Amino acid sequence: MTTTTVRSDVSRLLSAVPTGLLIGDGWTEAADGGSFEVVDPATGRTLTEVASATVADGIAAVEAAAAALPRWRATAPRHRAEILRRAGELMTERQEDLARLIVVENGKALPDARSEAAYAAEFFRWYAEEAVRADGSLQLAPSGTNRIMVSREPIGVSLLITPWNFPAAMATRKIGPALAAGCTTILKPASDTPLTALAIGALLLEAGVPAGAVNVLPSRRSGELARELLADHRVRKLSFTGSTEVGRVLLGEAARTIVSCSMELGGNAPFLVLADANVDEAVAGAMVAKMRNGGEACTAANRFYVHERVADEFSAKLAARMSALRMGAGLDDEVQLGPLVNAAARDKVDALVTGAIDAGAEALVGGTVPEREGYFYPPTVLARVPADAAILDEEIFGPVAPVVFCDSVSDMVVQANDTEYGLVSYVYTSDLAAGLRVADALESGMVGLNRPLVSDPAAPFGGVKQSGLGREGGHDGLLEFMESKYIAVQW
Ligand code: NAP
Repeated sequence: MTTTTVRSDVSRLLSAVPTGLLIGDGWTEAADGGSFEVVDPATGRTLTEVASATVADGIAAVEAAAAALPRWRATAPRHRAEILRRAGELMTERQEDLARLIVVENGKALPDARSEAAYAAEFFRWYAEEAVRADGSLQLAPSGTNRIMVSREPIGVSLLITPWNFPAAMATRKIGPALAAGCTTILKPASDTPLTALAIGALLLEAGVPAGAVNVLPSRRSGELARELLADHRVRKLSFTGSTEVGRVLLGEAARTIVSCSMELGGNAPFLVLADANVDEAVAGAMVAKMRNGGEACTAANRFYVHERVADEFSAKLAARMSALRMGAGLDDEVQLGPLVNAAARDKVDALVTGAIDAGAEALVGGTVPEREGYFYPPTVLARVPADAAILDEEIFGPVAPVVFCDSVSDMVVQANDTEYGLVSYVYTSDLAAGLRVADALESGMVGLNRPLVSDPAAPFGGVKQSGLGREGGHDGLLEFMESKYIAVQW
């Protein structure tokens, strides 16, 4: 694509996206007329401006969501399902444009954005199917005197706060089950990537979502807005995806009004390669577990613990695959690695890599910030990383693979579990029984066993320890937006 064609494609994409706030039945400016810039991470240049919601806008959205709730929760599940199904179909029809919009504001490579757009649509499809399966139960009480009847009810107005790294999928992973359950919603997208959320808001209206059931509020004042909304007794659910640090603050705020919280927080995924693993398969898996989304994923393999018998071979092969990746800007089918989302993200990655090299790690490939516009960081493999290097304790959120050489499986498991996080772990081995034993011993909500990808709308996604509370996806994801009501019945 020539530069002129890319520019006209970007203008076309931007012209189709609303830039106001979605409150109730339409688009509006912020109460104080405020807005903020959305920046292209590949160039650092401003793409457009979107309205920045104030607290007054937030309260207006709560009013719209609360007003819509009685009707929406009373709507037949089949009808709610049909609206979600339509939303999924529309998203699939427009997958290419949605993917391109994600690239423009987030920077990820087009193939990653296409995968995200497909994954995002799948949440609408899955929850269209789940909307009619909010089952309850009936049992005889142990005393024999009565029945214990349990039914499910929508929890109510739900505040959904999403991160920038999967701007479409994190929104649909929350809106899908919330609407399926009969809840009404207020989505607060990340300020780095509000356009995708606004496009999804417009698509949901088109699919037939009634006024007030979905409100979308980009805002530069996330902290103030969330605090005030969580203080409003009409908001009964907070579903948050983002950093553990912010999740901790929000849990404190939600405590005041005892709001039910689902928290999908940070990760520090270990990737274990046992001595008997097929090294080529482990390297292929590492490329996906590390490089999906350019390393900007909560599920990204953050630390590689490799048995010393295969560690040199694994590191060299991984470095060869990483160095062959094509890094570049945006709307180009050939690009496999885009820029990081902003300058702070790039600088953090750079500081972690520099620290690891200073501590004794060897950079087999990458390791320095390239001289070019935008927030790029090259694919990097660090071998023989010392076990106490800071890079093993923090989410890197970039295309960097630190490899620790280990002499036993038990050592790998101890090191893997030595973190406050517990989202996902990966294990590669030719011995399935050994792999299952290791999977049992790993302290994480999810394990990829000889598989580098765990995300699936049909599966319960979530972490243990400080990686979160609750699950998204699967049937569990629906129940996060429902309360059980128990009726003691005597007949
Ligand atoms: P973040 O800084 O925690 O922000 C997430 C969201 O919270 C954004 O919408 C942000 O808005 C908002 N926010 C920030 N401070 C807030 C506050 N005081 N009160 C209320 N909202 C606030 O995280 P991020 O940098 O966007 O995303 C990366 C993190 O998300 C990583 O830690 C990653 O592991 C995690 N993540 C987890 C999962 C999972 O499923 N477990 C999935 C994806 C990402 P602004 O943008 O306006 O600040």
